[in-house]
Amino acid sequence: MSIEKLSKFLAPTYENFPKGRTISLVVLRTTLSETIFRTEGTGEPICREFVQAGENDTNVIQRLVMTKRKQVAPERRKGREFLRAESLLYPSKDGTFCALNTNAPCEMCVDCFLYGFAAGGGGAQKSRVWTEDAFSLLPASNLIGDRTINAIFETGTMRDEKGNASTALNTSEYIKPSVHFLDVVTLKDVTADELRYIVGNVLLTSRYGAVSSRVGRMENQILGVFGGIAELPSSLELVQSVHDTFTASGKALEHPFEQQAIADATKQVISNWTNKRGVSVKLSDAEVTELIADVDRNWSEDERETFLKRLDASYEPFRHAPAESKKGKNKNKPKDTEAGG
Ligand SMILES: [Zn+2]
Repeated sequence: MSIEKLSKFLAPTYENFPKGRTISLVVLRTTLSETIFRTEGTGEPICREFVQAGENDTNVIQRLVMTKRKQVAPERRKGREFLRAESLLYPSKDGTFCALNTNAPCEMCVDCFLYGFAAGGGGAQKSRVWTEDAFSLLPASNLIGDRTINAIFETGTMRDEKGNASTALNTSEYIKPSVHFLDVVTLKDVTADELRYIVGNVLLTSRYGAVSSRVGRMENQILGVFGGIAELPSSLELVQSVHDTFTASGKALEHPFEQQAIADATKQVISNWTNKRGVSVKLSDAEVTELIADVDRNWSEDERETFLKRLDASYEPFRHAPAESKKGKNKNKPKDTEAGG
């Protein structure tokens, strides 16, 4: 079992204090439709940053950024759908059930224990799922489209009965389909079931960003799984190394770029990462496939209820209702830092 190969870096049970066990996932995130990473109607531009193109290639390019929040919020919501379905979200202080984007996390559910929460009165749980901004391989200018959305008349066309064109409603910037982001996700002191829960969330989430009922389709592919006592190189270092790999091979870096070529180049880059300080174990391709099969089995119709209830029960010794633990303390609660997006 590939999950056993990681056992030195997995916690046998949940504990309150960190012990430096680190599992890292290398994820390739690919847009399958137009995608908008911004809050609709705010006019804020899609996030991009000027960075060095490669580690060897010192030219500066502007890359698209998929922020931490844009990754984690939909993945948390995905897991929480199933916690809700199994009645594994708990009542929070204000009498409602645990919800994202509110100031009243339940502090007792799988999501609260794993992704963390910040609540007033001293209660807080640090997230054990560490993400960082993911960067596009190619420059932002190749990957952004711009569309003017016109009002549609009742005839279903953009002209009225007199043939007048409708006026532009909105100019909307979007990320094109087939855009690739490379990402490193770090898991701290998670148990085997917590690992299955997080990987399940990453693989089952298929919509990201704004207006996600219509756009924002994405696919996540796990290209590498590592165990150790330190973090892997960052998402930026990864994308820079992949850039250098293509530049060295003379391959033109232009959109659209084949997914398989990126997956292969990324695997080549990460193949020697066990030489990095604090990184001990890398699962082989066959072991990653086996791990994903294990995750799929636990999330299947037959086993999901058992799996989620077992994971939920693992926190029982550490649970205390927020209302009791915070008695008489300050009621000001900071925002749930991982929510939103
Ligand atoms: Zn909760």
